[in-house]
Amino acid sequence: MGNTLLTQERNVPLALLTCKINFTPLPKDQWDDYLLEGAEIDGKVYRRVAGNPTIHIKRGDYFECVTCGTPTSRRRVQHPIKGRSDIHIEYVPYCSNCEDIPSQFGKQIN
Ligand SMILES: [Zn+2]
Repeated sequence: MGNTLLTQERNVPLALLTCKINFTPLPKDQWDDYLLEGAEIDGKVYRRVAGNPTIHIKRGDYFECVTCGTPTSRRRVQHPIKGRSDIHIEYVPYCSNCEDIPSQFGKQIN
């Protein structure tokens, strides 16, 4: 039964799935370059990066791409802080199969 559910979800056209899901912005830090959005429907938890068509669905303790089923990767984005030697780190989810890797260089924090 679990596999049947998986297959059905992956066969849903992405555009249709996007229309059905009402995403809301998640809290972000002021230096973040990427706004994460979340949704929960029928107990299923979804995430996406605002402006990005890729949707990630929670499977147990990890997320995977709704389109291809690849486990979601996280890109470590570094934000230099003006006048200081340390950096802030932002983690950005992406699908290594469907998307280009986000840049590791975030905007400078002033
Ligand atoms: Zn994918």
